Amino acid sequence: MTTFRARVTAPWALASRLFPLAESAFEDDGVPVTLFETHDGGPWTVEVLLFDGDAETAAARLREAVGPEGADLPVVVDELGEANWVEESLKGLAPVAEGRFVIHGAHDRGRVNAQVPIEIDAGLAFGTGHHATTVGCLAAIERRMRCGPVRRPLDLGTGTGVLAIAMARLGAAKVVATDIDPVAVKVAIDNARLNGVAPRIEAFRATGMSDPRLTRGGFDLIVANILARPLMRLAPAIVRALTPRATLVLSGLRLDDAARIIAVYRGQGVKLVRRDPRGSWTTLTFVREPRPHRA
Ligand code: SAH
Repeated sequence: MTTFRARVTAPWALASRLFPLAESAFEDDGVPVTLFETHDGGPWTVEVLLFDGDAETAAARLREAVGPEGADLPVVVDELGEANWVEESLKGLAPVAEGRFVIHGAHDRGRVNAQVPIEIDAGLAFGTGHHATTVGCLAAIERRMRCGPVRRPLDLGTGTGVLAIAMARLGAAKVVATDIDPVAVKVAIDNARLNGVAPRIEAFRATGMSDPRLTRGGFDLIVANILARPLMRLAPAIVRALTPRATLVLSGLRLDDAARIIAVYRGQGVKLVRRDPRGSWTTLTFVREPRPHRA
């Protein structure tokens, strides 16, 4: 049985009004409708699981349920395959699908239907895939890696290692993964092992770019999902570490922070190529300008 998960995300004030509308719209179907905080501090997600039809129908039904108040919100639909997702989501965090990836916990091992399943045991580290910024980074990684091979990527602020593992799974030969928090480094190494990519991930503790293995540079993709303030501070060092035409993905940014970050990074010689807002967060993708040609 294919399950479709349809959801809309909004600030609490709106989501709390949409939830009872969705509940009553789906009451007769007996399908689960849930309201949950997408991450600490919001926004909130209203989600329904539908067990028949197709993705378009699921989207249309939720759109109709949330009525004119929710008309401007994008409806996101994931196809969840054959498993009993209701039971699964009670056992632990539900899997998160983004492009070819599905990020899941041990309780869903062997059940997820994805080209690239990634199992994450978060422990005390950040990055189960449930945060909009992680998902934004996964989407950016996939876009970049569709365009050609990546040789030496850096995952700055690796947390559980989820993004480093994603890059290794899409073919990067050697991924560097760092975190300021030694516990996160350990968790990332364990997860790399769990996903069979430990030999291709070099994980170590480092604060920002302050390690010779980072300042040496030569990264053709850097993904940094940390917060706006450290990203501002690190702009010169991060851009210096990129090869010409390398891709830079920045996340952990509130929508309000984007303009400042863009200005600072542009000043360092990268060009903004994409913004990917999700809820109140955004992911920015830049490309490093080729070095000025000298006669
Ligand atoms: N990459 C994961 C985790 C992001 S959470 C994901 O996308 O889901 C941000 C991580 O960055 C945390 O693990 C935190 O410890 C780390 N971090 C924060 N500031 C840092 C800094 N200045 N240098 C290195 N790591 C940092």
